[in-house]
Amino acid sequence: MTTIPGCGWAQATFRCGRCGAQHTATTEADYLKAVGVHRDAHAVWDRLNAIERDGIASILAV
Ligand SMILES: [Zn+2]
Repeated sequence: MTTIPGCGWAQATFRCGRCGAQHTATTEADYLKAVGVHRDAHAVWDRLNAIERDGIASILAV
C-alpha cells in the first residue's frame, strides 16, 4: 500500500500473495472492493479442479 505524503489517500496497489495478481486502486473503496472480489475468486478457485482452473485464470488477472 502506497500513499503520497500530504495528499492523503493517493493510490494503493494490491498484490496477491497467492497468485501474484496486482490491482492498482485510486480510492480506498476501490481497493477494498478489488481485494474482496479477488479473495472471493480464490475461494471459488479452491473448489475447482485443474482443468477448471485454466478457465478461471483470466478472472483472477484483474
Ligand atoms: Zn490471487
